Amino acid sequence: MSNDIRELNPREVWRHFSSLAGIPHASGHEEKIREFIADFAQRLGLDTTIDDAGNLIIRKPATPGMEDRRGVILQAHLDMVPQKNSGSQHDFLRDPIEPVIDGGWVRARGTTLGADNGMGVAAAMAVLESDSLRHGPLEALFTVEEESGMSGAMGLKPGLLRGEILMNLDSEDEGELFIGCAGGLDATMTFTYGEQAVPDGYTGFMIAVRGLRGGHSGMDISLGRGNANKIMNRVLQDGYLRHGLLLGSIEGGSLRNAIPRESMATAAVPASQADSFLEEFAVLAAAIKTELSIADPGLQIEAVPAALPGRVVEEEVFGRLLDALRACPDGVMRMSSLMAGLVETSSNLAIVKSGNGSIQVECLLRSSVDSAMEDLADMMRSLFGLAGAAVVFDGGYPGWKPEPASPILKRMRDTYIGKFGTTPEVRAVHAGLECGIIGAAYPLLDMISFGPTIRYPHSPDEKVDILSVGKFWDFLVETLAQAPGE
Ligand SMILES: [Zn+2]
Repeated sequence: MSNDIRELNPREVWRHFSSLAGIPHASGHEEKIREFIADFAQRLGLDTTIDDAGNLIIRKPATPGMEDRRGVILQAHLDMVPQKNSGSQHDFLRDPIEPVIDGGWVRARGTTLGADNGMGVAAAMAVLESDSLRHGPLEALFTVEEESGMSGAMGLKPGLLRGEILMNLDSEDEGELFIGCAGGLDATMTFTYGEQAVPDGYTGFMIAVRGLRGGHSGMDISLGRGNANKIMNRVLQDGYLRHGLLLGSIEGGSLRNAIPRESMATAAVPASQADSFLEEFAVLAAAIKTELSIADPGLQIEAVPAALPGRVVEEEVFGRLLDALRACPDGVMRMSSLMAGLVETSSNLAIVKSGNGSIQVECLLRSSVDSAMEDLADMMRSLFGLAGAAVVFDGGYPGWKPEPASPILKRMRDTYIGKFGTTPEVRAVHAGLECGIIGAAYPLLDMISFGPTIRYPHSPDEKVDILSVGKFWDFLVETLAQAPGE
């Protein structure tokens, strides 16, 4: 078999995907690829606009006889996550991605492939270019910076788009139709403290929690995995209440959207208590490991003698921190009553970090129901307010509430069954999609998300299933031809 992805079927999609791979388009650096696609549309004589947020909008009139159909917006994001293997010399601002055919998959040489979301962009380009497909009035909406804050979707102004149906081409399981996603909100709580000298007769310890699986704070939150910050707090509070443990420093978690895998703390314990502290620590650590033995078999919880911290966190503040973290909402708060197995509302206690006289606590809250998100945020405000911390919320974006009676869902379900003889699964994700944000600016849009099968997105192992691209394309073409009328 040739190793040229341009020879794969459907050629009209792979040809565009191959061109896109040749143009660097890491998130935040979409200018070149946007210019390339805008030139392409202008050569086709299509109406092309770049909005204030940097999104590219292209309009194509209905094909003859299809003028009465509802307008469809094909939406995909221009940017990709730039990740490479540690040995790779790849420069994401200059070098082209090198796609390779690997069995039934296409992947890249040592880097992310950008099938997320280049496949969606390429399919939309193939529709814009075609003079044989049948479709109603069309718009393509290509957004920027989806992978780094969704500023394109956030900056999209109401009144710009005319279509009534939005097809987001950015999901990763062929044969599944997505009709909902979660909104997100960053909660940051700050405890300020004075340092105090370590009293006489104390001895130092290093406490470590590691070996957890972690995972995505939305998609993996229902798996019951351990949270390193919660586990650390549990052993620290036990040491404080029973043995007078004091905290030198703490650092747990690294990314707000990742379940924390590790936490490290330095502590001081009265020397007279050191033996009983270690004994009881071992008992508690064993109990926690037993609780998590299936979800997190690699968990390690250790306390080892170490240098005494120079100064410790003021005891009164430390006590309040321990109480607040003990009670802090973490994990699944509620499952959806609209869709089986879908998490509706969750919290991830992502980061706990001391330094320069303050301890910062960062959580990522998610919900597909906006009022439930507000309730959770108020819970955090009440709890950490009681504990004397400053509470700040930012980075909020709305969810997309599943609408099982959506007309485009019904039409696409029927089309899929007619075409492939199997019933597509209807799902929602407990993570952010641009649909939530776009839907807030365009509340009347009937939205759906689908795409080819992509595995390990956002990593150098990213790959797209070749056969699924063909099915995705056939399904898109058929759906456009069958788009609902007035
Ligand atoms: Zn994406």
